[in-house]
This record gives sequence, C-alpha cells and structure tokens, in this order.
Amino acid sequence: MTATDATRRTGPPGLRLLAPGDEGWDAGRATFNLLDDQRPALIALPRDAGDVAAAIAVARREGLSVAAQATGHGAACRHPLEGALLVNTDGMRDVDVDPDSARVRVGAGARWRDVAPQLSAVGLAGLHGSSLGVGLAGYSLGGGVGWLTRKHGLQCNAVRAIELVAIDGEHLRVDAEHHVELFWALRGGGGNFGVVTALEFDAVRVPRLAAGAFFFPVERTADVLRTWSALLPSLPEDLTTWVAVMHFPPLDGLPPEVRGRSYAIVMAAHLGSESEARRLLRPLQELRPIRDTLAATDPLLLGTLAMDPEDPLPYRSTTALVDRLPDDAIEELAALSGAGSALTMLQFRHIGGALARRPGGAGARATLPGEILVFSLAIPTRPDDRSSRALERLDGLLAPLKVGEYPNLVEHPVDASRFFDASTWKRLQAVKAAYDPADLVHGNHHVPAAAGG
Ligand SMILES: Cc1cc2nc3c(=O)[nH]c(=O)nc-3n(C[C@H](O)[C@H](O)[C@H](O)COP(=O)(O)OP(=O)(O)OC[C@H]3O[C@@H](n4cnc5c(N)ncnc54)[C@H](O)[C@@H]3O)c2cc1C
Repeated sequence: MTATDATRRTGPPGLRLLAPGDEGWDAGRATFNLLDDQRPALIALPRDAGDVAAAIAVARREGLSVAAQATGHGAACRHPLEGALLVNTDGMRDVDVDPDSARVRVGAGARWRDVAPQLSAVGLAGLHGSSLGVGLAGYSLGGGVGWLTRKHGLQCNAVRAIELVAIDGEHLRVDAEHHVELFWALRGGGGNFGVVTALEFDAVRVPRLAAGAFFFPVERTADVLRTWSALLPSLPEDLTTWVAVMHFPPLDGLPPEVRGRSYAIVMAAHLGSESEARRLLRPLQELRPIRDTLAATDPLLLGTLAMDPEDPLPYRSTTALVDRLPDDAIEELAALSGAGSALTMLQFRHIGGALARRPGGAGARATLPGEILVFSLAIPTRPDDRSSRALERLDGLLAPLKVGEYPNLVEHPVDASRFFDASTWKRLQAVKAAYDPADLVHGNHHVPAAAGG
C-alpha cells in the first residue's frame, strides 16, 4: 500500500501518512541507536491533536496497533513494530514558557533542546537529563533522571497535566483532578496508555549554579572512583556529581582536547557558588585534575555537561542501580574500563536525595532505589566486536551490588513488571485495562492489560 493509497482509502485530508518506500519513510522510522531497525506498517506525521485522533482512527480501521515516538531515543526497549502505525510527533514541537509561574507547556514532539535555552534565559531549568536531544514525552513518561534530580526529584513528578488521544479517539486532558488514575499511570508507566499530544510541567528556579568537570588521565580511574565514592555521603542535595570513564572516538565533530583521547571525568552541578562547590569537592581536586572547567554558569550548560553524543550512533548498553561501590569492585571496574576497553563510556551518577522520598501526589514512578546509577555504552567495532562481552562482564560485576533498575535506561525489551512493586504493577494493569483493553498501544516497556501479557 502506498501513502497515496492509504490516504485515499482511509486517511483524512491533511494528515500525512507514509507507507514503506514513500518519501520521508526512513526519516520517519529512524531511531537514535543505529542498531535498531524498526519497521512499522504505516507512519503518521501529525501536526496537532486532531491529526493524532485521525491517525488512531486509521490504525483501528486498518487493524493496526499504535506506537508513538518523538525522537527515537527510547525506541530500543519497545517490541518490534510489525503491524503497527507509528505516530511520529516530530511536527508537534510548540513550546510555551510562563516565567512567572515557571510552568511550561510543550507539544509531544518537543526535545529538551527546544525548551532549555528559553528557560535558562529567565533563570529557570527543566529537570532534563544528560542530553538535550532527548524528547520531553518519553523522558517524562518514563521518569527522568538528570542533574537536578537529587534536589528536585524525577521529571515525571514535575508534570502537572498531560493531554492525550485515547485509543477510542477521545482527546483527554488529565491532571490531579481529571482522569486521576490515568494521570498517575502516565507519570512513570511509559507510553502505554494512548498518544500524548502535549505536556505541562513545572521548571525550577536556579538563582545560582556552578558546573563543570575535572579531567583525569584514564589510568587514574580507580583513585578517582575511590575518592568520589568515599565523598558521596557528605555531599548535600544541592550538589550532584557524576564520574564517567570516556573513550572519545577520533571524530572530527569532537573538540580537539577530547578527540581520540580517554579520561576519567568528574562532572559536577552545584546549586550554589563555585567556591562552595570547590570546598565540597576538595578531595577530588587534591587528586590534581589535568583540566578543570568548574565555574559559575547558566543552567543551559547542564545540557552539554555530560558530553553525550548528539548524533545517532550504533551502540549496546547496560545499566544498574547500586547502593555503593566497594573497593574490590572499583579495582575491577577500573580494569574493565581502562585504556583499550570495549566500553566506550562507563558512567556513575550520584542519585539518592529526593529520589529516596515519595513526593505528595507522585505518579507510578515515585522513587528509585540506590545511591548510584551505573550506565555503560559500547560501540561495536569490526571485525573484532568485543562490545557484548565487555557489557556482559560489567553485568556480572554489578550483579551482586544491584538494588534495582531505572527503566528509561534499560534499552532492550524486558518484562516491565520487574520495574515496579506488585501493587503498582497491578494498578498500572488496571489503568491499561480501563483505557486500552484490547492492548493496541505499544509503549516502551510494555504494560499489558492483564497478567502474563
Ligand atoms: C543519548 C541519550 C541520553 C539519555 N539521557 C538520559 C538521562 O540523562 N536521564 C534519563 O532519565 N534518561 C535518559 N535517556 C533515556 C531517555 O529518557 C529515554 O530513551 C526516553 O524514552 C526518550 O524519550 P524520547 O521521547 O526522546 O524517545 P522516543 O524514542 O521518541 O520515545 C520513547 C518512548 O516514549 C513513549 N512516547 C514518546 N512519545 C510519545 C507520545 N506522544 N505518546 C505516548 N508515548 C510516547 C513511547 O513509549 C516511546 O517508545 C537518554 C537516552 C539517550 C539515547
């Protein structure tokens, strides 16, 4: 079926529908991880909620299930899209910031990149993560862990209203007073309950910020991790530090000071002065970094502090939440990620703080266990691809320390019940049964309407 056929047969005027081979097909189904090759039956490119409702009507008439995506950053954890209509919300990127109330409204296709500069210009920040290329929708529906999480909690719990088109075609606005159970489920239960068209959330005021990084030779990873790990219990929630062992590929797009080099990097974001941050981080400074970029700055810097890749790339990844890094584990982690490692990046994020407390009116993802979020990615190489084995060794090393997982960073399909306690999972399934009983909406990390789906 060509798009022209599809449109003539079923599509309303104005809604752009693509079938395999149509112009724009590959861009519409593209994912951030180039190892994923999602092949939906049709793609819809809506510009507003009316188009989304029309797309869902097409899917129902054609006997297709429905999946949504904004950027494809989170596509890898979704089941294959054969027999699905993919609603690509790239054309719905409106952003409206009210500086007085710090309330933000975004279309479902907005990236943090569309929002963060406007917020930063008025002394605000969103609770975004390491990359501004990530979309608000998938990030917020799955939780959202970033630089300000220790102080302000998960992004999903900063969401104040969500608009979505349900599988029956109805356009709903859900908040703390309307469709209360659905509002609860959407904040942590992922994109399983309908196609979101807009989100409203609270940004936070950032009157003062110091942020930057200490770079160490990669050979000093064990020293850095030992010192960092010993320091964590003394650090206030205003200060968030991550350690990343990074092997930067020799790519032209990277700054010359990192291109083709390897470092152990301590990154820090402090809601306070530079001098106070330096005082709190003194033991790390005493290790004498070879480069030090910590300085007073605007919130916008938080979008690039982690030096995440901006362009799509092929990679495999793994993740775990742990309470601590014992000394023997640190030695092994340093050896596994050292010079010549197949792990392109091994990152340790200090979490805890507000993440350990259940906020009033929280969604399905209220808290996360653990003090440290570990995430690693490995870019496969040819002909000798060591990426899978290196990640398996890392998994083996982390297994005895693991206290949980953060679903947004689990980038392959799994039984999603493992991310929730039994009563939360049951409640999510009940919401699914109420709003999508035939299980037509494909979310990332699938919530079935009944047990065993
Ligand atoms: C480079 C990179 C950096 C990252 N950094 C962080 C980080 O620091 N912290 C963190 O918490 N996470 C991080 N993530 C994970 C990220 O939060 C998830 O991948 C998230 O799902 C991405 O959302 P998206 O909308 O950009 O992705 P998409 O792939 O477009 O969407 C992901 C999923 O969200 C749902 N969804 C999207 N749009 C809609 C919609 N309109 N209606 C209903 N459901 C929808 C769908 O289930 C979809 O499968 C990172 C990922 C990458 C690749």
